[in-house]
Amino acid sequence: PPAVPDTYYDSDADVSLTPAHNTSARANATILMLARNSDVESAVRSVRELEDRFNRKYHYPWVFLNEEDFTSDFKRRVSNVIAGPVYFGKIPHDHWFQPAWIDENRASAARQQMVDDNIIYGGSVSYRNMCRFNSGFFYRHPLLQQFKWYWRVEPDVHFRCDVNFDPFRYMEDHNKLYAFTITMYEFAATIPTLWETVKEFVSLHPQYVKANNAMNYMSDNGGESYNLCHFWSNFEIASMDFWRSEAYSQYFEYLDSKGGFYYERWGDAPVHSIAAGLFASKEQIQFFDEIGYEHNPYTHCPRGPGAWERGRCDCDAGRSFDYDGYSCMRQWDRIQ
Ligand code: GDP
Ligand code: MN
Repeated sequence: PPAVPDTYYDSDADVSLTPAHNTSARANATILMLARNSDVESAVRSVRELEDRFNRKYHYPWVFLNEEDFTSDFKRRVSNVIAGPVYFGKIPHDHWFQPAWIDENRASAARQQMVDDNIIYGGSVSYRNMCRFNSGFFYRHPLLQQFKWYWRVEPDVHFRCDVNFDPFRYMEDHNKLYAFTITMYEFAATIPTLWETVKEFVSLHPQYVKANNAMNYMSDNGGESYNLCHFWSNFEIASMDFWRSEAYSQYFEYLDSKGGFYYERWGDAPVHSIAAGLFASKEQIQFFDEIGYEHNPYTHCPRGPGAWERGRCDCDAGRSFDYDGYSCMRQWDRIQ
């Protein structure tokens, strides 16, 4: 196999696909996956499905990020199933690892308590690093500076329908900022002080709160308490310029300064969702019914008229997660 450079590998010799990503029809967008080398098998499966169901028609570039160097095996396996450009990047040390100012005694006591309480990933430091990175750092990576839009994809997910439109262009053309396919409740025990912290931030910076926002999706009492509804962030199509904005930058910095990513187990899903719910208008948040998406154990399968047939979906629309008891679609629907 050819030698693969560290940060850039273009698997396609077709010059029309090389780095000029801003062709007229396409948006300035990338498909993004955070993965470990050990994820290679399931990463290839996710990539292959999204290429087949969507990207073979568009050739949007892919970016892969990891806090370690990707192996040449990982790069070769993944590049083999991608038609367009591919970039592989290493995450800067300080964007990933637990900062020195975190009180490790307090953090490890909190982890032990969560292990005792049987909270999923409660004892994991790497999971916390990942959540903090996805909350406040990925969009600062040098490889992502050139892009406005991203589609987050994880290893081991499934795209259950053809995507017969360009979701990035849709976002761009309709002034959207954030898109989801699945919404559900967060585990309260992972975010005991998150909402109070958000309320403090909002009282310090009320000017960042957008009119006509999605507060009534997140709260049943006008903002007094959080109802735990969030967008499931293993799927996201969103604007990185939104995360790069002054409002979000200040918000992340404030949250991070409280240490809750380590003293609790704040997830990037509620952190992103609450920001979208406050700093965007509700019209700027998009539910993509047309995109059939599965992340174990839940599947969103299109229910809109004709969407299932048009998308050649292989999921069961009657068992879509949308109106499962654990779904937050009811809260989403009530603000429409
Ligand atoms: P879950 O969906 O909440 O169960 O979490 P996952 O295990 O799927 O992790 C979320 C995403 O982060 C996936 O894309 C993983 O591949 C990635 N990820 C999780 N932990 C690590 C890590 O320690 N290093 C790297 N490079 N990626 C990670
Ligand atoms: Mn996952």
